[in-house]
Amino acid sequence: MRGGAVSTHGRVDRNGVIVACAQCNRPNRLRFNVLGKTTRCGNCHAALRAPSSPVEISETAIFDAAANESALPLIVDFWAPWCGPCKMVAPELERVAQANVGRYLIVKVNTDVVTEVAARFRIRSIPTLAIVFGGRELDRIAGVRPASEIEAFASRTLAAATPRAS
Ligand code: ZN
Repeated sequence: MRGGAVSTHGRVDRNGVIVACAQCNRPNRLRFNVLGKTTRCGNCHAALRAPSSPVEISETAIFDAAANESALPLIVDFWAPWCGPCKMVAPELERVAQANVGRYLIVKVNTDVVTEVAARFRIRSIPTLAIVFGGRELDRIAGVRPASEIEAFASRTLAAATPRAS
């Protein structure tokens, strides 16, 4: 971890992401539909940060809840433990997560575990990164990419998908 920044490692379930309060360390639930909005710790009322690292999806229902309900766009990392290039992407995604707290929710889908989601997305090669927002896949890229390229891909994809307010 760089610069002594507090990393909010989150767990995820069907009802949202569970993050530890940076002040009192108490776990708090952030519902998917309020991610990115200001939420306060139920114990000490300190502001809670959205997750600053990728969260691992363990089952299809959790993925579906995140994909359909998240107020933040998802960057989905399709990966597997035996995949060498996936190990190279992992630290890049950590960097993207730290630099974009409250902008994206980065979720990891192990294609050997959450096989239904991998099949639905027709994942043929890993690593594959997909941008999912409002239950829809907007775009994807395959292969190892540096953090800067992942950020550029995500912001370009979302800019193209979001109608400009007139
Ligand atoms: Zn607290």
